[in-house]
Amino acid sequence: MTKIIGLTGGIGSGKTTVANHFRKANVPVYIADDEARKITQSPEILGEIKNTFGDSIFDNSILNREKLSQIVFNNPDKLALLNAIIHPAVRKHFQDWVTMHQEAPFVIYEAAILFESGNYKNCDFIITVTAPVEVRIQRVTQRDKTTREQVVSRINAQWNDEQRISKSDFVLENTDARTTKNEIDKILKILKNS
Ligand code: ATP
Repeated sequence: MTKIIGLTGGIGSGKTTVANHFRKANVPVYIADDEARKITQSPEILGEIKNTFGDSIFDNSILNREKLSQIVFNNPDKLALLNAIIHPAVRKHFQDWVTMHQEAPFVIYEAAILFESGNYKNCDFIITVTAPVEVRIQRVTQRDKTTREQVVSRINAQWNDEQRISKSDFVLENTDARTTKNEIDKILKILKNS
């Protein structure tokens, strides 16, 4: 059976960069946040979001994700409502995607909140990508239109490295790009023989 390799790490650690290395090695990669974003745009899900959160988060029928994020960010009850709409659809989409790749010995499931969501329980192995917090803050403020304070607030809302590492099979320190690539090759060898 196709094994599911969870790939996680804090914001700016380099999950997507690492996922792209796996993709280049012909490993199917599922980027959970991107797929969830696409699924959120489907008419059925948009309809349910409108029924639950009202018209005010839509600008001319287009979901204003920023407004929705502001509603759910510090409100666990509202976040639970949103998750109850989106999660079942996302789960089904991922299951169908795995079925589509059943010939592959393993696939990568990349998710920032793999542990927080409980989805780590569905993984056969887990890789955590790490980098020093200061480096991550610099990477994200350079990559996105965001502030240091916003990045720190995201970091504080996620599990920390110590928590992630305690539940991981592999820890991938991603600071020097060449070392990262070598470590990925080593992990690939182990996974191929597992
Ligand atoms: P997020 O949680 O925000 O989705 P992420 O963990 O997926 O982030 P990436 O998007 O892969 O992180 O990387 C963050 C930024 O850091 C990107 O601009 C990427 O190009 C850069 N980056 C990643 N790894 C390295 C590295 N080893 N050396 C220098 N820059 C890097």
